[in-house]
Amino acid sequence: MAAEPKRRHSQARKRTRRAAINLAVNLVNCKNCAKPMQSHTICNACGFYGNKEINKSTKVQVTKA
Ligand SMILES: [Zn+2]
Repeated sequence: MAAEPKRRHSQARKRTRRAAINLAVNLVNCKNCAKPMQSHTICNACGFYGNKEINKSTKVQVTKA
């Protein structure tokens, strides 16, 4: 039989945990404009991905599980 939690976690405890997950997005400095940006996405400031400029309308959406 699987172990069961004795008490449910409060809403505040759950929300605190999930807020920390959202803060853990990996920020790197853009190679083109040196501003902090999410890794593996197009830079919001200059629209570069890697060393190529990419149209900002085709933004890569990152969804968190
Ligand atoms: Zn940039």
